[in-house]
Amino acid sequence: MISPIAKVEVIPIAVPNDKADDLDGTVDTVVVRIGDEAGRAGIGECDAPPMVVKSFIEMPTAHLWSQNMARLLIGADPVEIAALWEKLYEATQFPGRRGLGIHALSGIDIALHDLAGKQLGIPAYKLMGGARRTKLRPYCTIYPGLAREGQSARDLMDIIGRQFEKALALGFRAVKMEVLFYDLVSDAELVALIKEGRRMLGDDILMALDFGYRWRDWYDAKWVLDRVADCNIYFAEATLQHDDLLGHARLSAVSPIRVCGAEHAATRWEIREWIEIGKVAVVQPDISRCGGLTEIRRIADMCELYGVQVIPHGWKTGILAHCGRHFQAACPAAPLFEFISPHVYDSPLRRDLVSPEPTLEDGFMDLPTAPGLGIELNEAVVERYRIDR
Ligand code: MG
Repeated sequence: MISPIAKVEVIPIAVPNDKADDLDGTVDTVVVRIGDEAGRAGIGECDAPPMVVKSFIEMPTAHLWSQNMARLLIGADPVEIAALWEKLYEATQFPGRRGLGIHALSGIDIALHDLAGKQLGIPAYKLMGGARRTKLRPYCTIYPGLAREGQSARDLMDIIGRQFEKALALGFRAVKMEVLFYDLVSDAELVALIKEGRRMLGDDILMALDFGYRWRDWYDAKWVLDRVADCNIYFAEATLQHDDLLGHARLSAVSPIRVCGAEHAATRWEIREWIEIGKVAVVQPDISRCGGLTEIRRIADMCELYGVQVIPHGWKTGILAHCGRHFQAACPAAPLFEFISPHVYDSPLRRDLVSPEPTLEDGFMDLPTAPGLGIELNEAVVERYRIDR
């Protein structure tokens, strides 16, 4: 039964972190919990500095274009998610509109999908128009971490090999190899390591690559992509600098492999630039950064018109991991979604913040069945790691 919003909580969370010199986005999160008058609650999260997001959502109203988001939500009907999205976007357009303001809105939008789904007794993907496929296909990201003092590319390849084995044993049939080797290897050596990765996986596994913004010159990227073209690579992510859209266009025009990016992009407006100017084959918005499930649904509809794929980025807790499932269920333009497995990559928040974990069989997951996102927040983990007390 529909019940008005009664409460908005913003809970910043972080684990003790010895990885500040790495790229692990799961060391912190900010959970948005929206409660209704009947006592139910929906949860969302966003991928941005937790205390800053909390300040943004709780900032006092200054004027019509710089309003307190929480106050606008109280008393509203949580099922009118797209209408609330517009209201919040307009009400924060001075400090928001891109970047952090949209990240904050993403967390709210995800929580609204969870709450509305629970009120109506339906999984969140049905709020996005319903299932457009019968099975879901995650890809498992393989990340050995950045090289630590004294570690070589060979050490990282050994870790990658072990993670490959774990992922395949768990039932994944699609993986992305993060080749963030930077100065440890020359471009020629990188080519050899990618070929080695393909040999380790065998020919039947879908393999993608993430270069971690290795190059500033599109021609250097082309040199490597040409030499691994026979490895059957599904996409090449983060080849050039994120904002170098003209470089992406030049690379896309000649690359034998799908060029992709946009993991940091916010809103359909920014994604449209990646398509129109960057000419990429795949965009990778993160649901907890781009504007939530409402906005990525609009992005996917737009991508269908352009013949571009949407394969969302996801490197946060189980909240975002489950969002990927609901999104792919509802959107035909999404052949895959990124999935961080807590059994492959060790992270306390990814492993423990919410449950249950979806099951995987021969590369696929079933459609979610429980109301909302279908997950429960682990209150003990929240109490242990929240950083606002
Ligand atoms: Mg990436």
